[in-house]
Amino acid sequence: MSKKVSILLIYTGGTIGMIKDYPSGTLKAFNFKKLVSNIRELSQLDCNIKSISFKKPIDSSNMNPKHWASIATIIEKHYDDYDGFVVLQGSDTMSYSSSALSYMLENLRKPVIFTGSQLPIGDLRTDAKENLITSIQIAALQENNHPVIQEVCLYFEYKLYRANRTTKINAEHFEAFTSLNFPPLVESGVHLKINHNYLLKNQKRKKFTVHKTMDTNVAIFKLFPGFSRELLRGILNIPNLKALVLETYGAGNAPTDEWLLADMKEAIKKGLHIVNVTQCSGGSVIMGRYSTSKELKKIQLIDGGDITSEAAITKLMYLLGSGVSHKSFRTIFETSLRGELTQN
Ligand code: ASP
Repeated sequence: MSKKVSILLIYTGGTIGMIKDYPSGTLKAFNFKKLVSNIRELSQLDCNIKSISFKKPIDSSNMNPKHWASIATIIEKHYDDYDGFVVLQGSDTMSYSSSALSYMLENLRKPVIFTGSQLPIGDLRTDAKENLITSIQIAALQENNHPVIQEVCLYFEYKLYRANRTTKINAEHFEAFTSLNFPPLVESGVHLKINHNYLLKNQKRKKFTVHKTMDTNVAIFKLFPGFSRELLRGILNIPNLKALVLETYGAGNAPTDEWLLADMKEAIKKGLHIVNVTQCSGGSVIMGRYSTSKELKKIQLIDGGDITSEAAITKLMYLLGSGVSHKSFRTIFETSLRGELTQN
């Protein structure tokens, strides 16, 4: 008889585990272990479930790379004892955390599924139960005694996505996330439909390695019509800034003003990495397609392709934190490390 699959729930905070404080009506964090023990449905699942909670659960707006490292440490510590991990956190910064974890956990061969909810688990109309239960079921899926999912994912409202392809697009709807440049890995209907062709398959022989150093000397600048030279200069001259995500228009376009190109060229010459990422939620940067991006290519902006801003900024933190050399930085950034971009 094969042994029961074990899943570790890691509760970091967020709406899912909150309760309404009466009479004020404000949502506040609750004892998650107590909460989990009150969800009868969990005992019906055919797997062993244990949970571990952040000492002080937080709203995900307060998350930073230290919290990401704490999640990575918990997974590292328990990697051999569990078949899969479900991380519960608030949805607000979930695409950032889960993208970050996708880089931090190298050669992952087990599922790490981030989920949360728009309404607390105790609420009558909650979306938390479906999100939690299906995440656990997907994390527990096995084929020939190996986990089906071997990457960091995000599950919300009937869809499992590759985490580093997602963006939060709605603060009201239960369908809070989208992944416009990569199809869902699993769709939950009457059956779980697994899109096997899209799953990341890690090589067996490579050792699972956890990276916890993230360098936060990075920034994002979203272009808007009318931005001033002073503003751009202010950003490019931030002390210690090492890399910048430039959110450009459409297929990677920017104004053709000479000062703009000259200031960026100068910053790149001084060692700043500038990545061209489109501010559209779907589609890709194609530098050179329009005359408004031809010059950006000439001054050596890094091509972000179809990466999201969330996956780009965390990738910069990870590469800078890993001490990647200046010479190979562009090539490594433009290479898909965890399926975060489409490589031509
Ligand atoms: N503000 C909450 C958080 O991100 C929202 C949620 O739980 O989805 O922690």
